[in-house]
Amino acid sequence: MSVLTNNTIGEAKRKILLDRFEKFTSDIYYTDVNFKSKVYPERRPIDDVLYYSVPELARIPFSDLNSNLFKPLNERSNRTFGPSWSTHWFLLNITVPDEWAGKSVHLIWNSSSEALIFNMKGVPLQGLTGGDGGDKRHEFPLISKAFGGDKYSFYIEMACNGLFGIGGATMISEPDKDRTFELKKCEIAVFDEEAYELLMDFKLIADMAAHLPQDSNRGSQALLTANKIINKCDTRDRSTWGDASKIAKSFLNQHNGDSQHTIYSTGHCHIDVAWLWPYDETKRKCARSWSSQLSIMNKFKDYKFSQSQAQLYEWTKQLYPELYEQIKQKVQEGQFVPVGGSWVEMDGILPSGESMARQFLYGQRFFKKEFGKYCTEFWLPDSFGYSGQLPQIMKLSNIDSFVTQKMSWNNINKFPHSTMHWQGLDGSRVWAHFPPMDNYCSQVHVKDMLFNVSNFKQRGASNISLCLFGFGDGGGGPNYDMLERLTRFEKNIDSVPIAKLSSAKDFFDRLKKEQSGPDHQLEVWHGELYFELHRGCYTSQASTKRGNRFCQVALRNVEILNLMSRSDDLDLSEEWKLLLLNQFHDVLPGSSIGLAYVDAIDYYRTITKNCEDHISTFTNQIKSTCDGNVDLNHLHDHVLTINTCSWDRSQVVEYALPNDSNHNVAQISHDGKALSFVKVQQLGYDFDSQKLCPDQIQLTSTSDFIQIKNQFVRLQINQQSGHINLFDYRMNRWVIENGGNEFQLFEDVPLFWDAWDVEVYHVDKPIRIHDPNVKLEILESGPLRACVKLQIQLTQNSRLTQFIKVHANSSRIDFHTLVDWNHEQHVMLKSKFPTTIYSPHQMASFDAQFGHLQRPTHRNTSWDWSKFEVHCQMWFDLSEFDFGLAILNDCKHGCSVLNNEMSISLLRSPKSPDVNCDMGHHEFTYSLYSHEGNLQSGNVIQEAYQLNYPLICKTASGNSYGKDSLFDLSAHSVVIDAVKRAEDDRRSVVVRLYESFGGRVDHVVLGVSKLILGQVKRVCRVNILEEELEELEFQDQHVDLGVFGAFQIQSIKFEFE
Ligand SMILES: [Zn+2]
Repeated sequence: MSVLTNNTIGEAKRKILLDRFEKFTSDIYYTDVNFKSKVYPERRPIDDVLYYSVPELARIPFSDLNSNLFKPLNERSNRTFGPSWSTHWFLLNITVPDEWAGKSVHLIWNSSSEALIFNMKGVPLQGLTGGDGGDKRHEFPLISKAFGGDKYSFYIEMACNGLFGIGGATMISEPDKDRTFELKKCEIAVFDEEAYELLMDFKLIADMAAHLPQDSNRGSQALLTANKIINKCDTRDRSTWGDASKIAKSFLNQHNGDSQHTIYSTGHCHIDVAWLWPYDETKRKCARSWSSQLSIMNKFKDYKFSQSQAQLYEWTKQLYPELYEQIKQKVQEGQFVPVGGSWVEMDGILPSGESMARQFLYGQRFFKKEFGKYCTEFWLPDSFGYSGQLPQIMKLSNIDSFVTQKMSWNNINKFPHSTMHWQGLDGSRVWAHFPPMDNYCSQVHVKDMLFNVSNFKQRGASNISLCLFGFGDGGGGPNYDMLERLTRFEKNIDSVPIAKLSSAKDFFDRLKKEQSGPDHQLEVWHGELYFELHRGCYTSQASTKRGNRFCQVALRNVEILNLMSRSDDLDLSEEWKLLLLNQFHDVLPGSSIGLAYVDAIDYYRTITKNCEDHISTFTNQIKSTCDGNVDLNHLHDHVLTINTCSWDRSQVVEYALPNDSNHNVAQISHDGKALSFVKVQQLGYDFDSQKLCPDQIQLTSTSDFIQIKNQFVRLQINQQSGHINLFDYRMNRWVIENGGNEFQLFEDVPLFWDAWDVEVYHVDKPIRIHDPNVKLEILESGPLRACVKLQIQLTQNSRLTQFIKVHANSSRIDFHTLVDWNHEQHVMLKSKFPTTIYSPHQMASFDAQFGHLQRPTHRNTSWDWSKFEVHCQMWFDLSEFDFGLAILNDCKHGCSVLNNEMSISLLRSPKSPDVNCDMGHHEFTYSLYSHEGNLQSGNVIQEAYQLNYPLICKTASGNSYGKDSLFDLSAHSVVIDAVKRAEDDRRSVVVRLYESFGGRVDHVVLGVSKLILGQVKRVCRVNILEEELEELEFQDQHVDLGVFGAFQIQSIKFEFE
């Protein structure tokens, strides 16, 4: 290697100088003479400190502090506090030395943990981050010009955890419960503003020397300029600092030409609502992070800070009302900028369509109510994939722009755009920007600014981008250094992109203007944003996913039954908000610590209990409205059947058998329940629903097979392996002939992100099933249902029991599954179905929010290969033109289709960040559904709803009689997904419908029950926020909704007399 480059500066000399610059600004080396040490030239310990350790890991509010419990710190033998998650309060009494009069004084605190400083009235003033990491925040500005002898008192709340929790060996390891934290610094110090200013100038120039191209003119100039500054600046003689500063300023005052890129820079503090810490810690993280930002805003008047998640604002409002008022003030002044519009930054793929709608309904309404306006951009920088329906849901929530950066984490294909139009499944388009720094927590160093431009994919087509700066994930946000750098970049430094302190809205407004001309054509990305990483999150923490699905179902049912039963208004907003909270992008995906799931499961329990109570009340209410309706033809006992789906249903139902035995039931189940065949109309109830079943189950058993037949299908269960074959009579063909429902175990060791990732190679390493021979037992053999119990020892410690059920008059086969999943280590469980279906286009279909999408079943390109594990909502389907097979589920999301083989992912066993993830008992159902025609004509969508929304049945003796239906919908392809009371006008009803087949349908007519809901007074189309879009004509309780486009969502509001 040549000693000299083509530049005048030799490479060796350059390295030596860069090293010299580092020592000049080091916290560790040569602090006796270097310049960094001049920022705080004098320090004094604070001697008068009292402390109080809160018992039992409790987090108590300031108002609960009892000053009598505080003890002097200097009586304590050590300055170490713990254990992990404990809280310790300190009272600091400070006297500024007389000789510091006229000087700027800072409080310096390093408790090796997170902390929050309060004034004596209990108002949070600023967060403090301990430790020696880059994200430390030790300094709190006390006074800019001390009087000398002035006295101050503060409280500090020390939380025994770091910004990123208390992981053991690695950040994401199981939390170390016994960690202690040392109070290393508790002092006041003189802050030398002049030294700090020069230091910031110097570091920036030194950074340019290090990161501009080595052979660039400007890089070499930076190198020599920085060296000149050191030579000029005698740290012992401040009279030399002015000349050093002049050298710096004259270099920094050289500007770029007109073509330079502009980086719109918004402060941000990504706060994971629970992740490596529980929800309760997050409430304090908000106060720590946001109070810090308020104090920075007071110094930098152009600084704008973007903060998402209505839930965080609501917590702050409840727990820190004075801080919240200050935030409101800064929102009015335009510095504190609410963004996102959603209740939390939810997972982008796992919640249902209606849940996503509610995220915006509750979120946007909160922002409007509290701050007077809606958010204009959806902010989801950290979710693991994005549903193709989000553009439409955003637009229906008054949002037209989208920010994320997560696609930069793809581990197979590089995402091709930074700025684009994102077009959803229905054709809705939003502006989308993925900040080219590839993060949401930039520290805005020179190298970040340079990388931003080189990594910006729309170079030439656009000349602006967005940067989110400030420490994040565990909160924190920007610090003073970042603002100092940015205000320098704002002044336009030659060879560095220009910064502009702004909000995301400022950026998108500018982008829209920039792209308004005919020459500007951004690319369009169509459909979902499939994230090529974290594919294990479709499966990890199975109980949480079950809780989410079951609560979504329960809340929908309660809202419908509340209206169907003509009961009084019921406010479910608290239950909804708990559900939405648990959809946070580390909770629902399964990537949080165990403590977070204690809360999550508890919230699901609360929602479930409340919903069950309501359903019971409303069902009784419906029953009582029918009491006394005597029908002489129907004097026998009845079953009240309630259908919350928007189509008529005829099927076998199971319900508790009443105590007296006079009931007329066709079959008693193996566990003593009644089975009947019923018919009930859409979104309705029927007291006379029991009908004669047109079909009957036949079960035969040989030493080879148990065979179950109904009019549609024949199922064979192999007596040895338990594998099934399936024959469909309608098409006269085998659907599965080589053994389906084969359980498979795989070694599941990802590269780093344990709970997050299942990697592409897992399928290459199957693990032998401990006892592949199953135990089969026939429990029911008809006439309405056959049930076979299958038991298999998966591993030495884990056992699976399955109830395979075939019903009369249905081609659906249910696999009701119980698994005791114990002591498993990095093992994944799937069930495999090799089918006989050949999809000529090599495509399978997957249920999504308010619609579905297709993905390849081949591995032609790296983009196809990356989809070796994908996600769905309630079903996925593989079809030929006239026949297909769907696999439905009641709480699973992970699946895969390779050629003609379909697999559903059932359980994982990652160990970090929750060492107990998925250990224990599980219950879930998946189903096979073979169908004629395609998935649309074959009713796959309806069947998946029916699995998830079983008919609600209640027996009643006496002669009650009656039936009615809330709504009457004309179009087969349109689904009513929600029926709810209007938010602002509880007498009115909002119905949310969507076109589910993926094609246009004209003249959709919706009829409304006069008996149940009353006389319609007015009908209008509303958006998700329930704002009126247009009034609709109605006649005789019917309204023509006009045209539904493919996968279009419509919300219709009915007002009644
Ligand atoms: Zn996050």
